[in-house]
Amino acid sequence: MMHFTYGGTAASSAAWFNSPDNPGSSAQVVIERDGSIIQCVSFDRPAWHAGTSEWRDRHGNHIVGLNRSSFGIELANWGFLKRAGSGWQSYTGRPIADPFMGVHRNGNPDGSTQPIGWEDYPEAQIRSAVALARAAVDAYGIDEIVGHDDIAPTRKWDPGPAFDMARFRELVFGDAGNADDSTATGELTVNVAEGLNLRAGPGTQFAVMVLLANGTRLRPLERQGRWISVSVLQNGQPVNTGWVHEAYVA
Ligand SMILES: [Zn+2]
Repeated sequence: MMHFTYGGTAASSAAWFNSPDNPGSSAQVVIERDGSIIQCVSFDRPAWHAGTSEWRDRHGNHIVGLNRSSFGIELANWGFLKRAGSGWQSYTGRPIADPFMGVHRNGNPDGSTQPIGWEDYPEAQIRSAVALARAAVDAYGIDEIVGHDDIAPTRKWDPGPAFDMARFRELVFGDAGNADDSTATGELTVNVAEGLNLRAGPGTQFAVMVLLANGTRLRPLERQGRWISVSVLQNGQPVNTGWVHEAYVA
């Protein structure tokens, strides 16, 4: 299970897990932004990272409380940010440059429906998490990766929209990803009130071809990072193709 720490260094989060003042939160590992890993709890012991949670796993089992059936992987990350002038900062007031801008699929923590800033995850941190997850998959036969925001959707936002879960699952499991990677085949819907730019390529540097109205149906063709190549559907028929950012489709 993937988390963000909502904090500063991995060492500070690991210290908090071990602090006598901590009411009982912990996780097996915390991964620093540079990819270094701190183990806090042995893999053969439960950690207290999931809290009140439930999940129907890919085999159809309904699991209530996931601490005893999952590892907690915490990524050092400030999570959702607050606006500060023209930029963004952590809840502690630390400026965060170039945040990922996105809307949480379960709704933003502040209730807004517009993109807000989230600290992005450095590639070194992701690669380290992938290597760790692969080792856990091999050693323990784990076959599913979830976010804290999957199993406690009404009260948790981690790892949040800056964490590319579909790509992470692919890197760990291979092309198929795991159970609910529906973007490979399922249709998508534009999910932004003011409409969404259809672009000529996978990035904001590519020209806007047309503004897609909220609710427009899309058929995904391929993925590149957080961008998805789509056919735009009208009455179920493709009428245009281009690229959209994954944060604005559901
Ligand atoms: Zn969490």
